Amino acid sequence: MTATNEPSFRESVDLMFNRAASLMDLPPGLEEKIRVCNATYTVRFGVRLRGDIHTFTGYRSVHSEHMEPVKGGIRFALAVNQDEVEALAALMTYKCALVETPFGGSKGGLCIDPRQYEEHELEQITRRFAYELAKRDLINPSQNVPAPDMGTGEREMAWMADQYARMNTTDINARACVTGKPLNAGGIAGRVEATGRGIQYALREFFRHPEDVQKANLSGRLDGKRIVVQGLGNVGYHAAKFLSEEDGSRIVGIIEWDGALYNPDGIDVESVRQWIVKHGGVSDYPDATHSADGAAVLEAECDILIPAALEGVINLTNADRIKAPLIIEAANGPVTAGADEVLRKKGTVIIPDMYANAGGVTVSYFEWVKNLSHIRFGRMQRRQEEARHELIVSELERLDRYLGDAWSMSPDFKSKYLKGADELELVRSGLDDTMRIAYQSMREVWHNRDDVEDLRTAAYIVAVDRVAKSYRAKGL
Ligand code: GLU
Repeated sequence: MTATNEPSFRESVDLMFNRAASLMDLPPGLEEKIRVCNATYTVRFGVRLRGDIHTFTGYRSVHSEHMEPVKGGIRFALAVNQDEVEALAALMTYKCALVETPFGGSKGGLCIDPRQYEEHELEQITRRFAYELAKRDLINPSQNVPAPDMGTGEREMAWMADQYARMNTTDINARACVTGKPLNAGGIAGRVEATGRGIQYALREFFRHPEDVQKANLSGRLDGKRIVVQGLGNVGYHAAKFLSEEDGSRIVGIIEWDGALYNPDGIDVESVRQWIVKHGGVSDYPDATHSADGAAVLEAECDILIPAALEGVINLTNADRIKAPLIIEAANGPVTAGADEVLRKKGTVIIPDMYANAGGVTVSYFEWVKNLSHIRFGRMQRRQEEARHELIVSELERLDRYLGDAWSMSPDFKSKYLKGADELELVRSGLDDTMRIAYQSMREVWHNRDDVEDLRTAAYIVAVDRVAKSYRAKGL
């Protein structure tokens, strides 16, 4: 997919890092210390399945321990390799720094095609992998906290958390060893939708700044914007669903593994998702044109392109043909360093991965805090908040009676105002705040420094500066 003369994913991340570092005043040696990956553990283990022993290869890479625990997902995919997990672990370091989640960066992966296995087999494999990692503190509430990524979800996280708990029967914080767990196994409301929700909040924040919107040669709000999304997995699905249902954007293209759908009038995201669940892909979906060459739709006319699948999909082979003036990187590393340069020269605005898809780790942070505090968010204050609101409402009701026909409360004011925030509302509010503040810190560098042309470099500068400060404070 990537042109052969392009650097690997990890080299691509390093090149982007170097670009930003060259504009910073880092002490000699510290730049190198931040860039390199601290350690990558490779494990090969056997599992007896269907009468035979099958050997699996997995990785957990720790990029930076300037803060602990280190954090990052575990992906299950056949293409997983050391270079990839190291690139992804580095991105986690910068991502966590940018959105101020108090973690270092890590990432893991298992070379496996999960679709080839029955659920009970996957459980056996996942538990064994978790055992190998937990044994070396590569799963641990205070040292290394994995989460879902491509090919994994709530189910796998519940198995891993349970495996850790079985191995650490007296650890009162055992549940905080992994995030992205189901609600009934120590998870938090809103974690599944979090990355997609973060994309929505990131775009809303971008469109709050007319000068930024203008840099992408766009105008107005999200309403009516034409969007192409690549990958209708957890992230792409939620992002496309929220943007079309809540912000009035039009999803004109959806790219999946078996081709792409295109309809200039807009595609109903929920019905495509149901179609995929039933038929395994997008082929034959009735309300859009299907083309077998999915990648070509990346080059379609649209306002916003959301690559939400694999790394390296926008590379030197197609970058100059990408028409979208605004790209928001829902996947990690979808644009190679070479393509980034081509697009920058064309004036395409890219909202970079380390910011755009940080919603997942942000809500993971809330889940980890919830697990450590052993209490659901809102449990203490919700009813008290309602009781105080009740006081105001009863005063307003008195006023309403007194003023007669001259004034009355809006019909649904009382019920809306009386309701104290539940966990989901609090999580969304915390995520929205995080996405707004991180965007503002990035855009300040973008606008205030003449030598910074793009949001990605700005994001790296903010993140690397924070990591550097943390290393310096420790006396390194
Ligand atoms: N795998 C997600 C990411 O790449 C989430 C990581 C986490 O929640 O720790 O950001």
